[in-house]
Amino acid sequence: MLPLKEKDRPVAQKLWAAGCCARCVLRFCCVTAPAAYRPPYQDLAEQLRAFVAGPGDDKSQEEEEEEAVAAAATELRAENGRSHDAAVPGSSEDSRPPPGAAEPGPARDPAQDPPSKRLKLDAAAGGDAAAGGEAAGVCVACLGVLQGLCSRTHASKIAEAVRAEQFQFDAIVLSVSLPAQLGVREHSCWLHVKKEAREKSMALDKDDLVQVKEAFKWTMQGLVARELGGVAVVAKSAFEVGVEFTHAETDADCHFLQAACPSCFRAAKNKGSVFTRMAVVKALEKIPDATFLRHSPCPPARPAARCSAQDVQCLHASVFVAGRYNKFCRSLPQTPWLIDGKRMMESSVEELIAAPLVSAFRADGFNFSASGREDVDVRTLGKGRPFAMELLNPHRFRFNRTEMRQIQETISSSSDRIAVRDLQVVSRDCMGHMKEGEEEKTKSYTALVWTQKEVQEEDLAFINDIKELTLDQKTPLRVLHRRALAVRQRVVHSMSAQLRDPHHFLLELRTQAGTYIKEFVHGDFGRTRPNLCQLLKMDADILELDVQSVDVDWPPALPE
Ligand code: ZN
Repeated sequence: MLPLKEKDRPVAQKLWAAGCCARCVLRFCCVTAPAAYRPPYQDLAEQLRAFVAGPGDDKSQEEEEEEAVAAAATELRAENGRSHDAAVPGSSEDSRPPPGAAEPGPARDPAQDPPSKRLKLDAAAGGDAAAGGEAAGVCVACLGVLQGLCSRTHASKIAEAVRAEQFQFDAIVLSVSLPAQLGVREHSCWLHVKKEAREKSMALDKDDLVQVKEAFKWTMQGLVARELGGVAVVAKSAFEVGVEFTHAETDADCHFLQAACPSCFRAAKNKGSVFTRMAVVKALEKIPDATFLRHSPCPPARPAARCSAQDVQCLHASVFVAGRYNKFCRSLPQTPWLIDGKRMMESSVEELIAAPLVSAFRADGFNFSASGREDVDVRTLGKGRPFAMELLNPHRFRFNRTEMRQIQETISSSSDRIAVRDLQVVSRDCMGHMKEGEEEKTKSYTALVWTQKEVQEEDLAFINDIKELTLDQKTPLRVLHRRALAVRQRVVHSMSAQLRDPHHFLLELRTQAGTYIKEFVHGDFGRTRPNLCQLLKMDADILELDVQSVDVDWPPALPE
């Protein structure tokens, strides 16, 4: 039984006669019980046909005569070649359609005696127009989305597409994308029955109606779930199955809105069409009824074909992996090094780490971030530098400890230039730990320093005694092209120097993160003050630099 009441009948009759499908009639009657939409479409159509036909012979003679007159008027209009889509301007406030466009008599059971012979002929010749809905073909409101496309067959096609991509998932969320012009049809149908709906207090506003999207989900979620072997279909899930419908035949139907409301259709960058769903919705909120009715048939014109379903789009939310990396060579950039689009080095730390991860997670791509970066010629030793990797649209996401260790091994053995430890799956929220307080953390370095003059033991003793030395570092010349010019204060917590030969010594430094070590040694033409040249009162330069530790205690260390 349909959950429709007597008060729903006028709206249902009008919409059914205008060519709305059974599920759209339920939507406009504000039926919010999902179960009401779920029976097979043919069953629903059958029940609705019976409902709109009315409770029986309770019509007065007078009513029947009125209907006959209305039907004759419709016929006359049709003969004059003016269909019901010739809306009359000025009928905005009174939502009643123009006289000739009135419903061709409330739908009746064809088995009953028709009010006139003419109507009976109409019904036979015009594709059972008076019976409306299904018999009239594709729904004027949803363009078939809630008819044949809301079926077990379609559910099975969706499930097949999901299975073909071999995703690993716990539950799915179904998302629906509809052609923007459907908004125009919804608006037109609403204007067609607004008066009746308001009189019966069914809906005071278009927003009170059930959306096509909702009705589609209510009907299809269960069917898709069953086809996928009982997987949960939920409102929120990391795995989204996107179903998209298009309808080329009526694409231009919403174009008149641009002239009526130019501000709603501003061309956006990187967007194909200005006729987005949001723009259409906004324009429909603004457009006066009279203007709308001048440009758009009410009720909507009958389409020749139903919507086409586009390829199903499966999207799994990103998975995040974190770890620490060592870099053992002085010719590897952290990220691809490009100058004017040309690669300067054949690989990078992120690519070496990403390749085995992308392959294991069967991801479509990745984003890499790290706790700071080292120069291409700087090694990162010790326990390594924390990094995190976002894996985009991973088809597989469940990995246990052992499997993660295997991936770690694969990365480390793929090249002698890097190694990875503490590799683990982390949550998106955890990513913040890596960046937070980054500037306050301590980093340790070892530098090989050359001096022009011979360096003495007492010079080094003087260096070793320096503690908590505050530097003023003007943005280094070498990074000025990508960083704003500023003076940053950084602290050198301690230093320890060991003589190698009269012109070389090894300098170990513990500094605040973000200190430019090279510039501290050679002074960067006086842009870093004080600097080692000043302190030693001799020319000095840095020959090699290694990062010894990055003291960020994330991600957690894993047992070896
Ligand atoms: Zn429909």
